[in-house]
Amino acid sequence: MLFSELPLANPLQRAVRAVGYEQPTPIQEQSIPSLLEGKDLLGIAQTGTGKTAAFALPILQLLLDSGKFRAPKTCRALILLPTRELAIQVADCFKQYAQFTAISTTCIFGGVGDASQKNSLIRGVDVLVATPGRLLDLIGQKAVSLKALEFFVLDEADRMLDMGFIHDIRKVVALLPQKRQNLFFSATMPDDITKLAATILRPNPVRVEVAPQSTPIERIRQELYRIDKRRKGALLKELLLEHPEMKKVLVFSRTKHGADKITRVLEKAGIKCAAIHGNKSQTRRQEALKNFKDEKIRVLVATDIAARGIDVDDVSHVFNYDLPDVPETFVHRIGRTARAGKDGIAISFCAPDEEQDLRAIEKLTKIKIPEGDKAIFEKLPPPQKETPESEMRNARGRFHQQSRQPKKEARLSKNEARPENRGGSNPLAPQQTAGNPHKGKRRRNRPGSRARRRMRESGNTPS
Ligand code: AMP
Repeated sequence: MLFSELPLANPLQRAVRAVGYEQPTPIQEQSIPSLLEGKDLLGIAQTGTGKTAAFALPILQLLLDSGKFRAPKTCRALILLPTRELAIQVADCFKQYAQFTAISTTCIFGGVGDASQKNSLIRGVDVLVATPGRLLDLIGQKAVSLKALEFFVLDEADRMLDMGFIHDIRKVVALLPQKRQNLFFSATMPDDITKLAATILRPNPVRVEVAPQSTPIERIRQELYRIDKRRKGALLKELLLEHPEMKKVLVFSRTKHGADKITRVLEKAGIKCAAIHGNKSQTRRQEALKNFKDEKIRVLVATDIAARGIDVDDVSHVFNYDLPDVPETFVHRIGRTARAGKDGIAISFCAPDEEQDLRAIEKLTKIKIPEGDKAIFEKLPPPQKETPESEMRNARGRFHQQSRQPKKEARLSKNEARPENRGGSNPLAPQQTAGNPHKGKRRRNRPGSRARRRMRESGNTPS
């Protein structure tokens, strides 16, 4: 099937061509016709399946068809998402698909001032993409009302519940007009999600279930470099200099400090790059992400928390500069490449003290990662012998990182600590924050605390 065969108006067909889509993905093929008939939809699908266009295109078509106009401080379609990154991405999609129409899209999310968001709602908006907290906040301030709503989309429902948004969702649903078309998307359908869907959708919705095109990991070519910690920067630099085909490269660093250090090494070698992590302001992160998406920079260095929920097309290579100590995080990281049916390459660096992490990753993925071309090592400075002191430092760094892991969220900037302001693609997030054995306790006299304090003072704090 071709997009041109779908009953979409010319401006939408033109936009689809402009973004380079030729054939609808399975979820688009299955959803678009039913949605155009005005049916409710229950979609079981993950990001990467093309689900955004599956709901955005028919909603835009129906908005065009209805002949109604937006009224001040109202919206006609509401898309609810758990994180600001996802909200921005979905709003960008709507703007792209509606670029040849007069349909307006506004995105509202927490963690930033609300003045410009309120301004953009004064004259009303056709499509409002929102995170729940900020939406309720602006409804409370009478900056927007849902009384004229025609379409309601709840996206990433399972993640919403994981992130504790159930009450906010119920509050929003209670404010919706009775007559509306509903779309409900979730990657998984446990009982609580099924129950929630039943409270939103009309009876007998169309059900569309789409598995990811293939488990991404099978499509990702992997390489492993066993390398001592101190030469990882030089190895990354040499690989990037040797391989110009590494065009859009995402590098994962375990720590914020490490991420900054990596960018310094690359910048010195003339490689355009930027880092995103919890110490960078929202504006700086957004700017770095945009430059990466627009290919103005070649390399984006990110910590796991900062990278959650980011969707960037065509990431050619993912580097695990440090191996994560949670093996599922590895799967998430490398899944950033090989999106939407494309191939991708993941390159992992493993220092001697990360062998255990490597074994856990290989056990989880059931894949033995092949070693990369060792010829590159000839271009690197010779390994420096580890002194007992440096070994201690490395060991402390790891202990420091692991023991503080549950506290990570608490040390995020105030904005990031709010659930809707955190990305949500890491399914481990709730477990990471839960069950912190040190919570509420003063941690005096813990082994190595003086060493950690010294490291903190010298700026070597984990992500
Ligand atoms: P989504 O699942 O909506 O996040 O989409 C994942 C990626 O697939 C996005 O980068 C889209 O731009 C891309 N995409 C969506 N639909 C199509 C299509 N029909 N053909 C090619 N790429 C698509």
